[in-house]
Amino acid sequence: LKNKPRVEAAAETLSGVKSIIAVASGKGGVGKSTVAANLAVALAASGLQTGLLDADIYGPSAPTLFGIKDKPAMKDGKIQPREAYGVKIMSIGMLIDPEQAIAWRGPMVMGAVRQLMSDVDWGDLDVMIIDTPPGTGDTHLSLIQSKRLTGAVIVSTPQEMALADMRRGVSLFRQTETPVIGVIENMAWLELPGGERQYLFGEGGAKKAAETIGAPFLGAIPLYPELRQASDDGLPLAARDHPGADVFKDLAAQISK
Ligand code: ADP
Repeated sequence: LKNKPRVEAAAETLSGVKSIIAVASGKGGVGKSTVAANLAVALAASGLQTGLLDADIYGPSAPTLFGIKDKPAMKDGKIQPREAYGVKIMSIGMLIDPEQAIAWRGPMVMGAVRQLMSDVDWGDLDVMIIDTPPGTGDTHLSLIQSKRLTGAVIVSTPQEMALADMRRGVSLFRQTETPVIGVIENMAWLELPGGERQYLFGEGGAKKAAETIGAPFLGAIPLYPELRQASDDGLPLAARDHPGADVFKDLAAQISK
């Protein structure tokens, strides 16, 4: 809490940003970053001025997801976000070496998150999506302390192990009175060539878990081999002609309601 006044000062500089949504997950590897990036693209396509702040300090993936290789430019003492698919993008991975950050302690992590909020020229945004590290740690506390979070969206696979961690994440946000906007089930099923669905990680687990904890269920995203490929190629699926783009469009509409 020692950092509190500075965090609040940092948040003031986001005065042009109307709403800030943290995308969180209990576990790594459930597709949180993929979902955050594609949601941002879908929100921008719906006409909203959108930003994506990749604060996943231990595994920043926005540069890969958007194919951004170079360092950001500076203008008037502020870091300029990159723009792709109508989304203003800034990633901790564009500023620091993630291999060094792995050994960072809480205050350094919080400092980096503050810098991403205050030293970047975000300008006016309707919505800023923040991709947070998996689990609940210093980044989440830092964001909660900034008192600027509109709410959190939780991504989980239907697997029980992931759901247990998701419930812990929901409880952190609830304890700090951060609204839980809802739960997204990712990797919900794989569509087989005959149109049949194969529920690789179990069926409907995240929906049931959301109901049990009383959080809204926002929707399910199937496993799409093209989503994995698009992510590796730096070309978000939400910007393509693919059924997955409609799934992200629907989720974006739910979130911006
Ligand atoms: P996290 O941010 O939770 O660690 P990522 O977004 O990095 O997870 O996703 C982990 C891997 O799963 C990546 O290779 C990504 O391309 C892939 N992936 C995520 N969601 C899907 C999906 N619905 N269908 C296919 N692949 C996916």
